[in-house]
Amino acid sequence: MRRKLAPIYAFTLLLALLTPIFSQSSSINRARFDSARERRIAQAAETLRPQLIAQRRDFHMHPELSNREERTSRIVAERLRALGLTDVKTGVGKYGVTALLVGAKPGATIAVRADMDALPIQEVNDVPYKSQVAGVKHACGHDAHTTVGLGVAEVLSKMRGEISGTIKFIFQPAEEGAPAGEEGGAKLMIKEGAMDNPRPSAIFGLHTLPSIEAGQIAYHSGAAMAASDRFFITIKGKSSHGAQPHTGVDAVVIAAESVMALQTIHSRRIDPQEALVITIGQIQGGRRYNIIADEVK
Ligand SMILES: [Zn+2]
Repeated sequence: MRRKLAPIYAFTLLLALLTPIFSQSSSINRARFDSARERRIAQAAETLRPQLIAQRRDFHMHPELSNREERTSRIVAERLRALGLTDVKTGVGKYGVTALLVGAKPGATIAVRADMDALPIQEVNDVPYKSQVAGVKHACGHDAHTTVGLGVAEVLSKMRGEISGTIKFIFQPAEEGAPAGEEGGAKLMIKEGAMDNPRPSAIFGLHTLPSIEAGQIAYHSGAAMAASDRFFITIKGKSSHGAQPHTGVDAVVIAAESVMALQTIHSRRIDPQEALVITIGQIQGGRRYNIIADEVK
């Protein structure tokens, strides 16, 4: 997310959600200059501030790993029901939650999506709302995302009469990746129908970024965040005595050359305008200082 990001005020998101953008694109401009509505939204958000800070800290104190978001999703579902949202579904892709806010006027369906999982990192910050779970921490800000999703739902649930169309709220587990051997994340939610009945025409999501000032959001046309894929390579050589390298095949030397050669995928195989990072994060091999290594992973 290092490209030119243009900061705009946070409630533009709310304005966009209140506008039937897919039936009348010109109404985006109308909404943007509807200062009375803008003020009402800002005021509603401001009123919610203490409640949302408390909610975010509660999530922060009770972080849950990917595909284990039992408590978080329960609180989310309870809150969405309390706000009067309909068709609140739980257990969509493990602990995923979806709900509908049906506007008073006809229109398209759009979705607002937030992720809920934390990371296996020990919290070292000494704050009153420090993580109470050893070795687990909301280090990526998904506690904030979940809270923002609930805040948007709350503000919009009180403006139902002005909403054209339907807003689908999607709270997603396992954004950080499901544990080994498990399915999870957006893919599993989609597989289990999160994008059907009704199917959204567009999805709004966000991610916290400490370099952007609080109260502002930044956007980017095209891809803003990367997907990550992992790969494993095993190099098989042939061991021999360290003093007789010519009788073996040194997997360490091959691995060393491979690490550098892999970087040419970026410099020689990919369009320079495309964003790509190749990281070799782990390397293991060899058995003893004086034996030519027969395997490196
Ligand atoms: Zn994240």
